[in-house]
This record gives sequence, structure tokens and C-alpha cells, in this order.
Amino acid sequence: MPASSNPYRVNVRDLVHRPGEMREKHLTFGVPEQLGAAALVVAEGTELDLDLRLEGLHEGILVSGDVRTTASGECVRCLDPVTQAVEVEFQELFAYSRDEALDYTVHDDHVDCEPVVRDAVVLSLPFQPVCREDCPGLDPETGERLADVGPREPQEIIDPRWAALEGLAREAAETGPNKTGPNKTELNKTGPNKN
Ligand SMILES: [Zn+2]
Repeated sequence: MPASSNPYRVNVRDLVHRPGEMREKHLTFGVPEQLGAAALVVAEGTELDLDLRLEGLHEGILVSGDVRTTASGECVRCLDPVTQAVEVEFQELFAYSRDEALDYTVHDDHVDCEPVVRDAVVLSLPFQPVCREDCPGLDPETGERLADVGPREPQEIIDPRWAALEGLAREAAETGPNKTGPNKTELNKTGPNKN
């Protein structure tokens, strides 16, 4: 993108070769290009807040930043829309040297924070976003969202003598942290002998 319209580009002329000088800068803008390419991305135009601390050092400008923005995409299980707040920090030295081997340099009295912001944001995005921790996903046969369908009705007829116990077992499974309690299948397997 042209340097003049790059919102990540910050003028540091007042800090160049003045070790010990420090200033802070706050930027807010809509991201000119999407950040990330996986299930969650920061879409083009999404507002991004950048709090920068710029420090003059002997060898360059040390840039520390707080980034706040919003990522959006789809739940990998049920494909519902997901949005997630993004808050990441970075710190990078932009050297005065013109050495090609250096990733970040001060150029024309400016630092371009785009690559560091992009890296920090993209690394913080989850590969497998879910709408909620226990999202049940889609029915593998019908494609319905299982969260809409609700739990299936039990197919088996439970012996009435065991119905009360079954209710207790379900309650324990739902409320207790102990998930290893008896469940219906086990009860059926070990059910009473029918004399
Ligand atoms: Zn989901």
C-alpha cells in the first residue's frame, strides 16, 4: 500500500538519534487489509486501536504496542458466526541501519508497524474457533445444528423399577463434576435379572 495512506506508519523524526527520548501515540483506524487467513480473521475495515510507546535508542527506535481489535469468522463445528475480541502486545526494535538482513528499520524518519501488528494479531487467533466451548456441532447425517435439535429422546424403554435411578444418574451426570457415574447404557447392561 502507498506509504502516505498506510495508517500503521508513524513519524518518528523527533526521536531519531535522540536516545532517552520517549513519547506515546494512540492510533485508531479501520484495517486497510484483512489480517489473517484462517477460520477467524480481522476483516478489512474493522476498527483497530493501537497504543504505541516509542523510545529513542542508540541503535534505533524501540516500539512497544498494545493492539485491540475484533476478529470474526465461523464456528468450526456448527458454522455459526463467531466474533472474538483481540488484545495483543508487541515490542520491536526498528534499527537505523540500512542492512538488508534486518526485518525492521527506520525508513524516511518513519516506522511501519503493519508487519509487527499483523504477526502479533495473526498468532493470537485460534485455529479452531467455536461459538461456545460445548458447541455440539452439526448432525453428521442431517446437517442440522444439534444445539437447535436438542438432546435425542432415548430410544430404549427403561424398566420402571430403574427409572428413578436413571433420573438420579442423569442428574449426577449433568450437575456433578464426576462424569464417571453410571449412565443409562451401563444401567441397562447391568440391569436386574428378570425372573
Ligand atoms: Zn458452534
